[in-house]
Amino acid sequence: MIQQNPVLRMCISCRKTYDRKDLLKITKDHKQGIILQKGMGRSAYICKSKKCYSDSKIKKKLQKALKTFLEPEFVEIFEKEITSYNNYPH
Ligand SMILES: [Zn+2]
Repeated sequence: MIQQNPVLRMCISCRKTYDRKDLLKITKDHKQGIILQKGMGRSAYICKSKKCYSDSKIKKKLQKALKTFLEPEFVEIFEKEITSYNNYPH
């Protein structure tokens, strides 16, 4: 049994792989639509580096990764969420 290995996921912006818990997960949930950190469905991950989340193309990249249209309301929530992440020590 291998239990120690971290789950690695790729950031859609810089395309580097990180431990799953160091990334923000955006999921296109079958029932709830686009949600953060939870849900079942197509997912995209973004790392917490400012370079990535403040990328002007990030919305387009997300839409492409999730194959969906992102409402401006969601983009607002997403930006708040990821900015607040940077206030945590890590
Ligand atoms: Zn990144």
